[in-house]
Amino acid sequence: MIVVMKPGATPEQVQHVVALVQDFGLKEHVISGTDRTVVACIGDKRTVDKGAIENAPMVERVVPILSPYKMASTEVKATKTEIAIGPAGFPMGGRRIGVIAGPCSVESREGFLRVAELAARAGCVGLRGGVYKPRTSPYSFQGLREKGFDVLVEARKLTGLAIVSEATGVEELAALVEVADVIQIGARNMQHYPLLEAAGKVNKPVLLKRGPSAMLEEWLLAAEYIINGGNRQVMLCERGIRTFEDYVRNTLPLAVVPELLERTHLPVLVDPSHGTGHSHLVPAMCRAAVAAGADGLLLEVHLDPEHALSDGAQSITPAALEEVMASLRKIAAAVGREA
Ligand code: PEP
Ligand code: MN
Repeated sequence: MIVVMKPGATPEQVQHVVALVQDFGLKEHVISGTDRTVVACIGDKRTVDKGAIENAPMVERVVPILSPYKMASTEVKATKTEIAIGPAGFPMGGRRIGVIAGPCSVESREGFLRVAELAARAGCVGLRGGVYKPRTSPYSFQGLREKGFDVLVEARKLTGLAIVSEATGVEELAALVEVADVIQIGARNMQHYPLLEAAGKVNKPVLLKRGPSAMLEEWLLAAEYIINGGNRQVMLCERGIRTFEDYVRNTLPLAVVPELLERTHLPVLVDPSHGTGHSHLVPAMCRAAVAAGADGLLLEVHLDPEHALSDGAQSITPAALEEVMASLRKIAAAVGREA
C-alpha cells in the first residue's frame, strides 16, 4: 500500500508514519516528490491497522498498490526516474536520449581506447565493453576478465564516458563496482535472483536486460528484486526475445517501450544489436526505438566487425555510429526529445 502524505508534511511527520509502518511489520520506502512525499509499504498487510495510519498527522490517504511489481510501478511513483551515470552524471531518463556504445567485449587496450574516443566524439554518453562474457559456447572467447579492468578505467579517464560492463555472477560484483559506472545484468541472468539481490546492495546504477523468454511482468519483478534490495537506480534494456523467426538473432518487440513507459518510472533502453543480430538492421531499429519513446540505446560498435572476438555480425562501425547519431537527432526532435 501507499501512504500519501499531505503537501507540507514535515520530515518528523513522515518519520512518524515510517515508525508506524515498521511497527506493523512492513518495509517502507520513502519517495519524496516535488510537492508531496509518499511512503510505499511492502509486506503482509493483514497485520496492518490501516485506520491507525490514516489517522496519523498529515496523512492524506492510504491506497493499495495493485501491480505485483510495486516500487517499479507508476502507481508508487508517477514521475520519471532519472539516473545519473558516469563522471559527468548524465541523466538517463531525462529529455536527452543517452546512447551507450562500444564493443561487445573488451579485446585489446588500443582497440577499446580508439572506439572510446570515437564514441565520445559521436556524442555518446556511455561506453560499453564486457570483460566477463556469458557465451553460449564454452569454446568461445570468454572475455579478459580482471585483466580488462585497467582498460575500462583508462577509457573513462580518456573520454569521461560512463563505463557499462556486465557482471555474470555474484562473485564478480564487488570488483566490477570499483571500475564500472553501470553494472549490466545480462539477458541470461535476468532471473538469477541471488545476483539481483546482490545488485540491490551496490551503490551503482544497474542496467537490467530482458531475458530472451521473459514476460514483461517477470522482467519488472526482476527489477523489483534490485529495488527491494535497496538500489533504486535500475534501468531496463530490451534486447529482443526468442521467437520462431530466424531471419534475425532475436525478435525486437518495440511495443514494449510505450507499454513500459505506462507501467514503470524506470528509464527504458533498447539494444538493437542483440535485438536483431545483423548490423544492417541496427540503424533503422535505433531510429524506431527512439521514435517509440526509448530513453537510451545500447549499441555494439567495433573498429573491424569482421574480426571481432564476439558479436561481430551485429556490430556497426564507428562511421555507421556517426550516421546513426546524426539521424537520431532528427527523430528525437520529432518526438520532443534531444539526442
Ligand atoms: C551483451 O550485451 O554483450 C550481452 C551478452 O547481451 P545479452 O545479455 O542481451 O545477450
Ligand atoms: Mn554482445
